[in-house]
Amino acid sequence: MATILIVDDTPTNLGVMVGHLEAQGYRVLIAQDGEEGLQRAELTHPDVILLDVMMPGLSGFDVCRKLKSRSSTREIPVIFMTSLTETRDKVAGFAAGAVDYVTKPLQADEVIARIDTHLKLHAAQTQLEEQNTLLAMYREDLEGQVAERTAALHESNRRLRAEVAERERAEQQVRRLNEELEMRVAERTAQLSAANRELQAFAYSVSHDLRAPLRVVTGYATRLLELAGSRLGDEERHYLERISGNTDRMSVLIEDLLTYARAGQPTVHAGRVPLEPLVCQLTETFAARIAASGATLEVGSPLAVPLGDATLIGQVLANLLDNALTYRRPEVAPRIRLSASPDGDMVLLQVADNGIGIAPAYHARIFEVFERLHSADEYPGNGLGLAIAAKAARLMGGEISVESSLGEGSTFTVRLPAAPADG
Ligand code: ADP
Repeated sequence: MATILIVDDTPTNLGVMVGHLEAQGYRVLIAQDGEEGLQRAELTHPDVILLDVMMPGLSGFDVCRKLKSRSSTREIPVIFMTSLTETRDKVAGFAAGAVDYVTKPLQADEVIARIDTHLKLHAAQTQLEEQNTLLAMYREDLEGQVAERTAALHESNRRLRAEVAERERAEQQVRRLNEELEMRVAERTAQLSAANRELQAFAYSVSHDLRAPLRVVTGYATRLLELAGSRLGDEERHYLERISGNTDRMSVLIEDLLTYARAGQPTVHAGRVPLEPLVCQLTETFAARIAASGATLEVGSPLAVPLGDATLIGQVLANLLDNALTYRRPEVAPRIRLSASPDGDMVLLQVADNGIGIAPAYHARIFEVFERLHSADEYPGNGLGLAIAAKAARLMGGEISVESSLGEGSTFTVRLPAAPADG
């Protein structure tokens, strides 16, 4: 229920008005002068004050100004009751802080309508203010949240930047290390190549120089056998024959060493190498050994055409055939199969045998220089054949490998680039 405070020095005039207001459900309080009006306003805090202008003591304007100057009463809407119709007084009333005025004699309907309006206005204003306060609170809260988020963002940004910088530093370091490593590898490779070339040149010149004296030894041993063979006792002749046999072996070794050393020197002539003529030539070369051992040599057909150097491929095949005939199982006639099949842009050149086979542990080692798995008494050889084959394959941009099981046989595969189909 809304409370209306009426401040008027002649309340008797108000009797009818009060009745109307109470009938509308308002609680009505009366003060008979300005002082009392101020006191009651402060104590009861009414919803609207109806204030007479002309009063003895404090005038309505004074009361209004005081009400507006106190925080406890500032918000209460004040409506002046005036019999004066002069614009000046209305203006003075509004200047003192009133929200409206009604003229005497009071018209009940008008007064009620105005009170109603101002009550509603006041309620709306209060609500607005409350909402404003709430909004301000929300805003503050939001601003707080935004500030927090911004700070968090700044922080994560800072961390990200630091991380990126750290990454860049690490990457730079890796790049630097890589460059260093590459440089070192290049240096080492250059050193190794130089050392290799030196070694090759050394092997070549030593082998070359050994040929002449060996030829002299062989020559004199043979001559001695021819001239004095009949006069020599069995033991002496045996010694001479041993000298001859060993110089023969040494001469083969020297030739192989020369081949190995030479293999890296000449520029490789890469071209189409049809294999049929090469195989024909090899069959002739090995004909005697094939016949003596009762071996069969099967040649696959067609033979794919590799890209390489005919001399080098000839050497590779000769070494592989030589081994296939050499490392045969006792009492088992060698069965050798030679084939060349395409494999993508490569050609697989294969020599398979049914010989003694090689234990897996030695599959890589046998391609090294001087690596042998048997003594010269068991099988003749110097451990250079496969090293020559491997080197030749590498020089032609290929590689060599073996698949083998002990006691069953071996298959050597040389992978070489294939010759272009139409070339
Ligand atoms: P060499 O035959 O002169 O000893 P290689 O380099 O040709 O030298 O061969 C190295 C070793 O690999 C041989 O001593 C032999 O033990 C083994 N080997 C090579 N070819 C065969 C093969 N077809 N079957 C079994 N063992 C083989």
